[in-house]
Amino acid sequence: MIETPRKAAFEREPLVLRGRERLLARLEEDGIRNQQVLETLAGIPRHLFIDEALGTRAYEDSALPIGHGQTISQPYIVARMTELLLESGPCSTVLEIGTGSGFQTAVLAMLVRRVYTIERLAALWGLAEPRLRTLKLRNVRYRHGDGRLGWPEMAPFDGILITAASEGIPRCLAEQLSPGGCMLLPLVVGARQRLVRLTRTRSGFRHEDLEPVMFVPLLGGVG
Ligand code: SAH
Repeated sequence: MIETPRKAAFEREPLVLRGRERLLARLEEDGIRNQQVLETLAGIPRHLFIDEALGTRAYEDSALPIGHGQTISQPYIVARMTELLLESGPCSTVLEIGTGSGFQTAVLAMLVRRVYTIERLAALWGLAEPRLRTLKLRNVRYRHGDGRLGWPEMAPFDGILITAASEGIPRCLAEQLSPGGCMLLPLVVGARQRLVRLTRTRSGFRHEDLEPVMFVPLLGGVG
């Protein structure tokens, strides 16, 4: 995406600046404690990740449509998953499943050494990379494919973040975690979804059930 003068001006508009401040206050109120995560999130122009027509809603704490039946995640959940990932221990390499708009990817890229991200929809995959290049984030590798299979050539990962709801724990991904590493995922439980953290321990995996969430489904194959 090219930084047009119109976009640059938009970013300096008082409404946008106030919107970002309000969003930060809201996230803190909702329990996000990690200041580094909050500052990182506030520093990324979310309006560049959505359609211009929705630009005025970019700093609301809500998921928004990004086409092809998919959504850019709600800022709260981006912050929460990132905070949970970082508090789990040293985190140098992270695998993200479900690039979507690339917003969560950008947050991760600013906080860890290297990010690997996989998206199954070619139409979305092709848009994320130029966006992150505009933001000069060069520590990201992108793949078009079925993320449930992970990225075995690059494994193990200190963290794995799945941004679409999974019907079960994808074993293949769990096996790509380094010792002590953790995976955060929205897990389908009956008619609901729960945010789960799976940590690789010496003897197996520790499973923590954290809070209710709402994500689009993790699907098989590519599109
Ligand atoms: N983090 C993204 C969330 C996008 S929504 C953002 O904030 O923009 C979830 C994304 O997961 C969608 O883009 C969807 O196409 C993708 N997805 C679903 N199943 C997948 C799979 N098996 N492998 C890779 N991506 C998948």
